[in-house]
Amino acid sequence: MTALKLHNTLTRQIEEVRPLEGQTIRMYACGPTVYNYAHIGNFRTFLFVDLLRRSLKFYGFDVKHVMNFTDVDDKTIRGAIAAGMTLQAYTEKFTNAFLADMATLHIQTPEQLPRATQHIHQVIALVERLIAKGTAYVSEDGSVYFRIAAFPKYGCLCHLDQGGLIHGARVSQDEYQKESFGDFVLWKKWTEGDGAVGWDSPWGKGRPGWHIECSAMSMEYLGESFDIHCAASDLIFPHHENEIAQSEGATGKTFVKMWCHAAHLLVDGRKMSKSEGNLYTVQQILDKGYTGRELRYALLSAHYRQNQNFTWKTMDDAKSNLARIDAWRSRFASATGEPVRDWNGLVSFEQHFDAALADDLNLSGALGHLFDLIRDTNKLMDGGKTIPQLATVWAKVDSVLGVGDLKHEIPAEIQTLVDQRAAARSSKDWAQSDALRKQIEALGWKLKDTPKGQEVSKA
Ligand SMILES: [Zn+2]
Repeated sequence: MTALKLHNTLTRQIEEVRPLEGQTIRMYACGPTVYNYAHIGNFRTFLFVDLLRRSLKFYGFDVKHVMNFTDVDDKTIRGAIAAGMTLQAYTEKFTNAFLADMATLHIQTPEQLPRATQHIHQVIALVERLIAKGTAYVSEDGSVYFRIAAFPKYGCLCHLDQGGLIHGARVSQDEYQKESFGDFVLWKKWTEGDGAVGWDSPWGKGRPGWHIECSAMSMEYLGESFDIHCAASDLIFPHHENEIAQSEGATGKTFVKMWCHAAHLLVDGRKMSKSEGNLYTVQQILDKGYTGRELRYALLSAHYRQNQNFTWKTMDDAKSNLARIDAWRSRFASATGEPVRDWNGLVSFEQHFDAALADDLNLSGALGHLFDLIRDTNKLMDGGKTIPQLATVWAKVDSVLGVGDLKHEIPAEIQTLVDQRAAARSSKDWAQSDALRKQIEALGWKLKDTPKGQEVSKA
């Protein structure tokens, strides 16, 4: 197999993935801030992380993958207060919605899913370490700030040229621009705007800043130095820059070896926003009649480091590409005929697929080779041959692509009727079997009785 290589934002180079220890890649991905339903732009990033996770496994690594839920920050507090809910009830609702969307998109569950509010103790301990080293200080407003002048490496990830910028005032909000870089908040003193949200600390009642939550949670589960940190590119500054400062400022060790960032998703050529009317949730895409696996395929179809422009054509292309794959899968699974001999197409496909994926996750290149394989093996099957190894080859491809089982997409309601019909048929109750068929067809599904049982598909 080829060695897997990824683009590292820290060095701006394509580098080979080599674990810091043993065979395990320890990887942290910034998770969602659970103040709203995640949109498809967010999920483009989480699908990139899922592709990375699956690819690491494809290349033989063990993966320890941690993704957090930001369930306390400026936005979640504002949202909970506006909704008249407790922070916990408010964030729980969006956390559960996020987990459901992950399942719809066949995103594998990371090994750990820590919530920020359950790691306040770790945050406080990290802030204490920074204060003890002189890289953080308690300000006159009662909050604790990181002193960027005490960390000369500050700006290493985003290549911030401090010379050209005026050192801004202190920043107490979680999100800000490069122009206003300055000492940033680690622990925010409680104010009335926080309502019932606050924890006791050596600096009085308050709450963590957003940035330090990720440093505390990642080091809790992955250690003070780990292999890969990934997220969307808009988190490079200030979030990831601040994570490096907080972590290395406390430990004196390199925090993360490789930083991997996914580019943006545009919709109809524009930045997504509610006011533009081009912001979609996963559910809104499903409501248009598409499936989770079609949306997965669509959002994986552009290279992760390039901005992707999402249109309905992107979805229709995904649908027809998947239909082509599905038809081929059904065909090779039921093909009967002479097994092909002296054909090296499979070996060459596996080499090409591997080489494309290893090249900074060029999945669309890899899928190009899959479609060549589909064309070539369809020709062989036209000639009455079978290719018995295709099931194994497909299983390997799908371990990365993750479009899953064909049956997976049959709604539970339809599956129940199909199961009832199978029972009716096995007890030779033909009248009931016909009635169930009509019911299934009325719901927009097609049935075919085959020697292997009922085949269900969309009408
Ligand atoms: Zn983060």
